[in-house]
Amino acid sequence: MQFISTRGQVPAVSFSTAVAQGLAPDGGLYLPESLPDLKPYLAEWSKLGYAELCEAFFAVFATDIDPDELTRIVARSYTKFVHDDIAPIIKLDADHYVLELFHGPTLAFKDFALQFLGNLYESQIARTKGRISVLGATSGDTGAAAIHGLLGKEDVTTFILYPDGRISPLQERQMTCTGSDNVFPLAIQGSFDDAQTAMKTVFEDREFAEAVGLSAVNSINLARILAQCVYYLWAYFRLPEGVRSEVTFVVPTGNFGNVLAGWLVQRMGVPIKGFRVATNQNDILHRLFQTGCYELEAVAPSVAPSMDIQVASNFERFIYYAEGRDPAKVREIIQTFKATGKYSFDNFDSEAFSSSRTDDAQIAEIIKDVYETYGYIVDPHTACGFNKGMGGKEIILATAHPAKFPDTIRAAIEQDSTHPSLEALKSRPIIKHSVEPTPEAIKAFIRNRI
Ligand SMILES: *Cc1c(COP(=O)(O)O)cnc(C)c1O
Repeated sequence: MQFISTRGQVPAVSFSTAVAQGLAPDGGLYLPESLPDLKPYLAEWSKLGYAELCEAFFAVFATDIDPDELTRIVARSYTKFVHDDIAPIIKLDADHYVLELFHGPTLAFKDFALQFLGNLYESQIARTKGRISVLGATSGDTGAAAIHGLLGKEDVTTFILYPDGRISPLQERQMTCTGSDNVFPLAIQGSFDDAQTAMKTVFEDREFAEAVGLSAVNSINLARILAQCVYYLWAYFRLPEGVRSEVTFVVPTGNFGNVLAGWLVQRMGVPIKGFRVATNQNDILHRLFQTGCYELEAVAPSVAPSMDIQVASNFERFIYYAEGRDPAKVREIIQTFKATGKYSFDNFDSEAFSSSRTDDAQIAEIIKDVYETYGYIVDPHTACGFNKGMGGKEIILATAHPAKFPDTIRAAIEQDSTHPSLEALKSRPIIKHSVEPTPEAIKAFIRNRI
């Protein structure tokens, strides 16, 4: 299978090339040339364990990777998850399920993709004898998951930009207390969007990117999106057969990566009913789905920091399909949005999606309410998913373990939420670096360290 850019100005590439490049050289995002129909596989796949399902799914896309090598990559990727089911489903009542995606090493769903991506990189480096510099920007969980996915991998140097003081102290510790000398957490003065914008500009300097072997771990990397598709399939199969196609997937959303993965699974023929995009007070996507207008506003830091995002980078992938797979139209939309901070869609087709918005006060109320109703503790991101049920059956994606956000949990329910892997971090020294959020400063830092 070949992969194309949403902006249509570069030739199609193999899976390995799309993964290695992250962002396409024309500034676009990679997508499969055409989406396969998964229906013929579903009966067979419904019987597989998590890692087997992941392998079967990737065999459809990663056609340039030797099947035995793919088996090894996938087998290594889910061994650090502490739950036997990898992604267990909890039934709260007749209409509400939770898909727990926080049993990986950094206790957030991003481990699903980044453990896998780390092993993909390792395999690729072994094959090409090259070395790579990974650059990412994080609103908290991506950075931690990326660092833990790449920890101890030879010939990989990892640089992660994050907004200083705007991620939770434990998220920061997960990134800065690794004691690893090939990992550089870079604290910037600014928002996540500032970090992401600077990062994208660094990638657009192709000469620099090639010179240092730059690769992206943000959800712009297609391998991450595809790895996330797997748990939608997994969850679909675990739901009772009679209700599978009546359940809406509710996805706490920031960069639109997670929910996009689910939507792609639906487009590949899996009869999922639909999706609710659950935002926090940074609600650009909620406003979009309500009005058809995608309009930038300032980021207001919230108690669900991994969703404190306005420019949802994966949205470009959705636009590509929504606008009839027309790269010229995608370019026009992105240009208009960049220039004016706004784009109004005519005939915005969002049939598969509903949306909701949850502010900080509501998050606290929901954490309390869910705890009192079900005796179940949700983290502040997952709490956004419990807002405004549409009345039908829903499966809410629990995107992080509540112990990552102990202050918010304690304020809401006067309970301590802890996790042994987090307690262990508290006695380790923090190592981080201050860098200006400009492409020049970031490039200079990378050049000096490799
Ligand atoms: C990253 C993250 C999100 C947002 O996911 P996107 O793919 O960016 O939409 C939600 N919750 C948590 C806990 C996260 O780490």
